[in-house]
Amino acid sequence: MTKLSFYGAAQEVTGSCFLLDSGSASQRTRILIDCGLFQCPKFCDVRSHDPFKFDPKSIEALFATHAHVDHTGRIPKLIKEGFRGKIYSTHPTKDLAELMLKDSVGVMAKEAEREGNAIPYTEEDVGRAMSFWEGRNYHDKIQIGNFEVVFYDAGHVLGSAMVFVECPSTTLGMNKKVLFTGDLGNPANPLLNGFEKVLGAEILVLESTYGDREHEGIEEKKLKLERAIEQSVVRGGVLMIPAFSLEKTQELLWEISDMLRKKQVPNIPIFLDSPLAIRATEVYQKYYSYLNRAYVDKKSFSFLNFPQVHVALTTDESKKINDVPAPKVIIAGSGMSTGGRILHHERRYLQDPKSTILFIGYQAPGSLGRRIQDGANEVTLFGEKVPIRCHKETIYGYSAHPDYATLFEFVREKSDTLKKIYTTHGEPKSSLALVQKLRDNLGIPAFAPKYGESVEI
Ligand SMILES: [Zn+2]
Repeated sequence: MTKLSFYGAAQEVTGSCFLLDSGSASQRTRILIDCGLFQCPKFCDVRSHDPFKFDPKSIEALFATHAHVDHTGRIPKLIKEGFRGKIYSTHPTKDLAELMLKDSVGVMAKEAEREGNAIPYTEEDVGRAMSFWEGRNYHDKIQIGNFEVVFYDAGHVLGSAMVFVECPSTTLGMNKKVLFTGDLGNPANPLLNGFEKVLGAEILVLESTYGDREHEGIEEKKLKLERAIEQSVVRGGVLMIPAFSLEKTQELLWEISDMLRKKQVPNIPIFLDSPLAIRATEVYQKYYSYLNRAYVDKKSFSFLNFPQVHVALTTDESKKINDVPAPKVIIAGSGMSTGGRILHHERRYLQDPKSTILFIGYQAPGSLGRRIQDGANEVTLFGEKVPIRCHKETIYGYSAHPDYATLFEFVREKSDTLKKIYTTHGEPKSSLALVQKLRDNLGIPAFAPKYGESVEI
């Protein structure tokens, strides 16, 4: 009997890590799906340091769904602790994961220095992890022991994948089919192809980030962005957009460039002030053929060479953005203002009544972004008290995850074969709400497993 264990993202949104164990003593195979960092409430939460609940040496292969560190961030630690198998992902995920993991070492080092902790791995460990890593195409069959694994497009970020596993089963010699969604995308994302239709699974390990919420529509989202840019120009202020380096930044670049090209917004310089976001955007350019052909103009569009887009790789280039008079748009990390170059711009412009801070991503409770969004009168930046007098806007439609209605439809079309659903990657409220809705409306047994729980499949 194959066993499925949940070692992360169980009634929470970070730390994704699932173990499949074929169990039969003669030909035992163990594979992992994802091995991410626990990131709540810190970038590298204390639990990321805990020993694994399984022996890393006993794992034959790891399948990474996508490059976000809450899905890959414990891989170097896994290798440090004896894992010697292969790591598989799509080609773009491999390139992006290397960038993200190397960047995370720097962020963890700063956090560790502040708090007097150690970091779980170094840049050298990331280099070692990459030597174990193999890129594969969507739809390739990968055989590991008696598991057969295939990646399908998940539409969440460039290269993101669902992992479909055929597991050996002793019952009547029938194989069990398990689909791990990883993180699914929001079909309203203009850059990516939406998630693929994958049928035939009996067990579904389903993300539930927004299992209890509905998103705003794509038109409303575009309109709000257009308005935010226009108003910044009218006021002569700066539009600050704290953005995550992967996906949201590229989506913004594409949408703003598209608006500029169609003259829907006034001509205004756009500064991309984040080395990680610039490198990640180069990977998007490299794997252009993976993007949504229906929206992206293959011949002419270049993310970073669009005339109004200016990139700041070095600190000097970043400082020079200050010399450019408003109006201007600045896109910089981190997405929740917990670090990164956005803080320098916030120090200058949060106090400017003509400027605007635009939130396009989730702001975790306790983060600086959340405090600003919630209406704080002042914040402390670099030891200085900064009053908040700028405008604040939020656009919810940039979510890189599907909302409840889309998740429900994703499951409904598979309901003929599904026997069990496990909701993961969601806060308890969201995971449990989705469980209830799936049970009530589709009659499929659904569960929100807890950390460390194992089930036979
Ligand atoms: Zn993700």
